[in-house]
Amino acid sequence: MERTYVADTVNKIGEKINLYGWVDSKRDHKKIVFIDLRDRTGIVQVVGGEEFKELSSEDVIHIEGTVKERPNNLINSKIKTGTVEIEAHTLQILSKAQSLPIPINSHGYEIDEELRLKYRYLDIRRERMTQNLRIRSKVILFISNYLASQGFIEVETPILTKTTPEGARDFLVPSRLQKGKFYALPQSPQQYKQLLMVAGIERYFQITRCFRDEDPRKDRAYGEFTQLDLEMSFVTQEDILKLTEELFTNLVKEIFPEKHISQTPWPRLSHKETVEKYGSDRPDLRKNKNDKNELAFCWTLDFPLFTQQSEEDFFYGSGKAKFAPSHHMFTAPHPDDIPLLDTDPLKVRGLQHDLVLNGYEVGGGSIRINNPLIQAKIFELIGFTDKQKEEFKHMLEAFTYGVPPHGGIAPGIDRLLFSLLGETSVREVIAFPASSGGKTSVMNAPSEATEEQLKELGICVKEKV
Ligand code: ASP
Repeated sequence: MERTYVADTVNKIGEKINLYGWVDSKRDHKKIVFIDLRDRTGIVQVVGGEEFKELSSEDVIHIEGTVKERPNNLINSKIKTGTVEIEAHTLQILSKAQSLPIPINSHGYEIDEELRLKYRYLDIRRERMTQNLRIRSKVILFISNYLASQGFIEVETPILTKTTPEGARDFLVPSRLQKGKFYALPQSPQQYKQLLMVAGIERYFQITRCFRDEDPRKDRAYGEFTQLDLEMSFVTQEDILKLTEELFTNLVKEIFPEKHISQTPWPRLSHKETVEKYGSDRPDLRKNKNDKNELAFCWTLDFPLFTQQSEEDFFYGSGKAKFAPSHHMFTAPHPDDIPLLDTDPLKVRGLQHDLVLNGYEVGGGSIRINNPLIQAKIFELIGFTDKQKEEFKHMLEAFTYGVPPHGGIAPGIDRLLFSLLGETSVREVIAFPASSGGKTSVMNAPSEATEEQLKELGICVKEKV
């Protein structure tokens, strides 16, 4: 007999059905035993006899039974299947469960996070986590469909690649075929998406993973995160802001109908004005900070193209230069400020846009440089050595074969969901995040390589922690 899902039981009164799932809870009333059976669609009460006594919470079972309507006085309005219960005829235990190391029937915030991550596959059984992952999936699907309807195509770009600096350290992967050389995991697909514009794709997006070796925070997971990366040709900054605003306004309407956006069109603030007025370039513009359904989106614009950097500042390639890019080194200077590149670089404005939601930066992007001479000048200003210039010469060459004006943005999916769901940390919206100490959930990476592996890679480890 085919499987019935828990949520469908209410439509099958009087019918014989097969249910599969977990024992959510058990109430032993001597002669009869009640259990709540849980599957991905909900829970339903099942009534059984003696044979149910051996069941424990989280056992995986198969039940054959009949759906009975509950008398009015026994209806449980707290659950969706509260109008019915299942009278079990047969019980099959598919897998016994020992008692769980963490409770899963609470919201989970009270449990030590390291323990939750060690047992993440159990932690995800809790309703809040399951719900977060479902919403995440819906959000990603919505974004993909919306962008496809606007003529975008999703293109995958390499993970084993060369450095694409976004201001963090790279993760390196040693090459076996070319001993002594390393791939870098992309901090973003920035270069590839620009190359796709040279390739004539015109409207690209990708739900992609980015890798940055920087310290975790509550709004930033360690190591990797997911972003909606997009790029468009023949556009102005206005087109990018408009598309993003329409995308997220529609997304909120569809998936978070209980939320309201406090101001439309979204306020646009200049970097200078924001810092002066709010002391930060990511102001929290909510009218009522206690209202969990208020969404205050805004844009920060007119960033300086460069920030001043001291000798100790970390930026790829510019250990000694005075300037580091505010956004990244492919951001176009404001056309009116180009002469200032030679005279007063810190005064140059960049065509950068940052997307802010309730005080968190949830995305950033820019119009890009498409003139190889200006790009070369930026490399100079940020202090690239000849060797570093060599690393990026494919961009300069690509731009000599006909490159459209282009620009884009990359909202972070984890951070966006964290804000939309009002969660306590981005890790609450990621299935298997790394812990704050940089260890992966459950599998506890990183781990040591074997002698053979190191030998094949031509690597000798000098220091171990
Ligand atoms: N690559 C940028 C980032 O990851 C986004 C962009 O400029 O489109 O922040």
